[in-house]
Amino acid sequence: MVENKHNSQSINFIKMIENHNGQSGLSDIVFAGTGVKAEKCYQCGKCSAGCPVNVDMDFPPSVVMRMLQYKDDEMDQKILGSKSIWLCVTCEMCYSRCPMEIDIPKMMDLLREKAYKEKKANKSSHSIIAFHKAFLNSIKRNGRLSEIGLLGEYKLATFDIMKDVNLALPMLSRGKLHLLPDKIKNTKLMKRIFKRTINQEEAQP
Ligand code: SF4
Ligand code: SF4
Repeated sequence: MVENKHNSQSINFIKMIENHNGQSGLSDIVFAGTGVKAEKCYQCGKCSAGCPVNVDMDFPPSVVMRMLQYKDDEMDQKILGSKSIWLCVTCEMCYSRCPMEIDIPKMMDLLREKAYKEKKANKSSHSIIAFHKAFLNSIKRNGRLSEIGLLGEYKLATFDIMKDVNLALPMLSRGKLHLLPDKIKNTKLMKRIFKRTINQEEAQP
């Protein structure tokens, strides 16, 4: 949220680049939006070796960096349609291991946003996107996370109503789930924050 001014500047810059003949490479967009320079990567592989979800990724982080270096539209589209960008859990292990201090998690965030806005997100990311939306909606409504609200919205969106239902009662009895949301006092303020940030960005063409 604090970075909103920077973000909107970046978004404008990204649009400028994208509109330039419509042929800009994804690596330029990544650089404009995050400051990550793909060219700095020299393929040591330390990021991929330390990534906890690397085995499930179609392209491990070091491969994504290499693909960006090609500045080739086909490669760019593969990155945007990849599972990898959605499987990244922003643990920052790659960032802490990278000898070139390349902020891969920040880059992954931008790639997710771009893939989502351009409707290029990998089909297998449906449940991950549903979770992100349910989480944000809960914060927007209550100013805090409501586990029941998040679960309800997520399960409806993924048609996965019955899975883990046996865990609900024990969690309720141990006070891990609360039936009523715990709201902050000024929920209107939270809605205003969303209006000025996320909703505004979504409204942009
Ligand atoms: S931040 Fe993402 S890409 Fe980097 S190690 Fe963690 S999961 Fe892997
Ligand atoms: S750790 Fe850094 S330099 Fe090494 S492959 Fe990954 S991004 Fe490239």
